[in-house]
Amino acid sequence: MKNIVKTNAVVIRKINYGDTSKIATVFTEKLGKISLIVKGGRSSKSRTGNVIDIFNVVEIVCNFKETRDIQILSQTELLHYFPKLIEDFNKSKYALAVLELINALLPENEPHPLIYKSIERLFIILNESQRNPKELFTRFLLFFCKETGYEFNPEFCTFCGKHVEEFSLYKFNYDYGILCPECSKNKMISFEFSQELFKILKCLSSKNSETNYRDSDLDTVISFIQRFLNYNIPEFKGLKSLKI
Ligand SMILES: [Zn+2]
Repeated sequence: MKNIVKTNAVVIRKINYGDTSKIATVFTEKLGKISLIVKGGRSSKSRTGNVIDIFNVVEIVCNFKETRDIQILSQTELLHYFPKLIEDFNKSKYALAVLELINALLPENEPHPLIYKSIERLFIILNESQRNPKELFTRFLLFFCKETGYEFNPEFCTFCGKHVEEFSLYKFNYDYGILCPECSKNKMISFEFSQELFKILKCLSSKNSETNYRDSDLDTVISFIQRFLNYNIPEFKGLKSLKI
């Protein structure tokens, strides 16, 4: 299959290729993650080379062939550029973590239009607002898990069905999910949830953005999700951008 595709995309990374070109990895709305060759992209005078740059949202036209590892770019248009995101260390750290997640966990040529849209929206918010980047990232991470099928449902005990609100502390097993204190006896425990953490997770998964979260709570959630993803996808070793 070979066809001309026009789609929005966010640029994930760019590496040198030969003396004059670059190879870019982009996450597109219609084709998912793909690699593109940017001919002449190493020159600072290359318009396409400057447009195809990390974090930028672009519209591309490419000659897409599924059997090809690297696609050929025929047109590029810059749609969004995020100067305030790039200048701010904290904002760019979490934006990088988003791109790293896509690069590490999504296979090539598999479209996820909802994830794509949420990244575009997230980068616009990071660039334009003063909202806490760590909170926005945590929300994105929960959404990403849900959309990719790695959702954990911290509502009921997997074995007896009791609602977690009945307990002050409950346990999480990577294979079984949530367990109440009674059912967790003699089982491997991967993680402990407090009632408070449960409420935070619920709140972060909702649209409500009124709450101010403690940094340490967001760190706990991010660390838990990374461990959960690592358990399910052993090649995933955690997000390097967050270790800086
Ligand atoms: Zn139980």
